[in-house]
Amino acid sequence: MSLPKEIQNLGELFSSLPGIGPKLSNKIALYMAVSNRKLASSIDLAIQSALNNIVKCEICRNVSTDGVCEICEDTNRDDSIVMIVENSLDLYAIEETGDFSGKYHVLEGVISPVNGIGPDDLSIDLLLSRVKEGKIKELIFGLNPNLEGDSTTLYIKNELENLNLDVQTSVLAKGIPTGSNIEFMSSQTLSDSLKSRKSL
Ligand SMILES: [Zn+2]
Repeated sequence: MSLPKEIQNLGELFSSLPGIGPKLSNKIALYMAVSNRKLASSIDLAIQSALNNIVKCEICRNVSTDGVCEICEDTNRDDSIVMIVENSLDLYAIEETGDFSGKYHVLEGVISPVNGIGPDDLSIDLLLSRVKEGKIKELIFGLNPNLEGDSTTLYIKNELENLNLDVQTSVLAKGIPTGSNIEFMSSQTLSDSLKSRKSL
């Protein structure tokens, strides 16, 4: 005997979400189909609403309810500085700092041969077209400081050089996170912090 097919199907769908294994996915499926059907209906409606109303900004690929997102539409922001981020979650994390008033470009991922993601799967061509327009004077690379983020940064930097696009580039500083202890940091983190040091 096993779980009804409907629960198994639902469980399988949940297990394809990031970070959810087969046991947890079946637990969620059972919870939604039996214990909390009201929540299941609300989720169903919310998903339908998101699918019907959310689009990608045609300029920067941020999530939006219009063809152009609120950030690209904001004329008070600086058009000459663009920060490249992996996804919209990273974009809004930067926005929360309140310290950046330029524009963004959402890559929709990073180059990852292991996961079959190449440059053509990302919005790199769109970024290069934006730079070619000539308004952008500085590109800030705000990708995660790991192998995939670093190789994506390098790839885009090479593309900019190959196309002779005259734009200044910078990358977010790597190093010791605020509130942490030096003794617990990896030597790579400490080494990055040393290289990124600034004068007091
Ligand atoms: Zn936009």
